Amino acid sequence: MRRVEPALQTMSEFDLIRRYFTRATPSALLGVGDDAALLQASAGNVLVVSSDMLVCGTHFLPDADPFMLGHKTLAVNLSDMAAMGAVPRWATLAIALPLVHGKETSHERPHPNPLGETPSHSTRLQTTAAKSLVTPEGEGANESLCEPMFTVDETWLAQFSAGFFALAQQHGVELVGGDTTRGPLNLCVTIIGEVPAQQALRRSGAQIGDEIWVSGCLGDAALALAHLQGRITLDAMEFATCASALHQPQPRVALGLALRGIASSAIDVSDGLLADLGHILEASQVGAEIEFAALPLSAMLRACLTPLNPPLSGGKHNSSPDKGRPGGVGLLQQCILCGGDDYELCFTAPVARHTNLLSIATRLDLPLTCIGKVVAGRGCIVHDASGDPINIEACGYDHFR
Ligand code: ADP
Ligand code: MG
Repeated sequence: MRRVEPALQTMSEFDLIRRYFTRATPSALLGVGDDAALLQASAGNVLVVSSDMLVCGTHFLPDADPFMLGHKTLAVNLSDMAAMGAVPRWATLAIALPLVHGKETSHERPHPNPLGETPSHSTRLQTTAAKSLVTPEGEGANESLCEPMFTVDETWLAQFSAGFFALAQQHGVELVGGDTTRGPLNLCVTIIGEVPAQQALRRSGAQIGDEIWVSGCLGDAALALAHLQGRITLDAMEFATCASALHQPQPRVALGLALRGIASSAIDVSDGLLADLGHILEASQVGAEIEFAALPLSAMLRACLTPLNPPLSGGKHNSSPDKGRPGGVGLLQQCILCGGDDYELCFTAPVARHTNLLSIATRLDLPLTCIGKVVAGRGCIVHDASGDPINIEACGYDHFR
């Protein structure tokens, strides 16, 4: 077991905060350094507040690239602001670090993985992931993965904070406080934004007859994770194409703003399309009909799906022959409908807004796809290409199921 004696003996907690997590905060009355920050919303706006936590072993692997992890830690929170139609302004960062002093880290050198190998970074990720990353079928790997074997050091911190601040700067977000402690790696951001109260996008406004839309593409992040878990095999090109969706999601903040006054409801797709659309339906007390063939897929995912024939109906998809790929059509369909980590927006809007939304897509250079309709009743029906309902079992990731 690696030495985990006090790393902070040569760098105090406050040195660490100053060095890695303190940047200018011109739009806060008071930022990092006091007992709390002082913030003032712009005139006519209310504050929008949300927290999202990333836990090592549950949400990411210990040897995740620290720059991309810094990006993702903030990105998942920005995505919640986008879903509310809010302008993100400030963030706090509560972070538990298994810190050792020095430049050498278990992230950079081969750490003893379960197979006892010292392979390349990407292979290491795959082998560790295949054995250990929590899957929807079970939890509990994080302790053994992240403590006490896994440690981080100043190089890791520098890269993590660089990734965090690069995205923060892109969105004009200021880090105004947080908490720093030693412990198994755990990253929690609270994000604070603002919106004119009447313009906030809620889950509860979907109306019967509204169209259902989704931004970007679905399923790439889940496909990359399935590859890392050994549930499907992608070639290097295919994996590279979808890995960025998993590691560096792009929060749709500009879209959220453009949807003010247009969308009747919105949510960000973090737990899978069906699960998250389900939250809109429940909050709005309506049902939905979705066309599987209309769902926006990356060229890569479409190419994976095409040779496998259209998805099967009547619940037979799980027993379909694999036709060349482990997992086959059932797994691809699962990634698209139920995979997590897309961080796209799913929203509803009156039919009269259809062309409006197409011009927003052009202006933002972001595909917006109408995937179905809001109907009376409850629940969601997904039709295959011939109009038959696809059998969808419980979809979406629930940490406590
Ligand atoms: P306190 O003891 O009053 O809780 P701390 O010692 O935890 O304060 O933190 C000192 C200051 O540094 C506070 O302003 C706090 O918000 C800020 N801070 C602590 N950790 C972080 C972090 N990871 N990122 C940004 N600011 C932080
Ligand atoms: Mg205090």
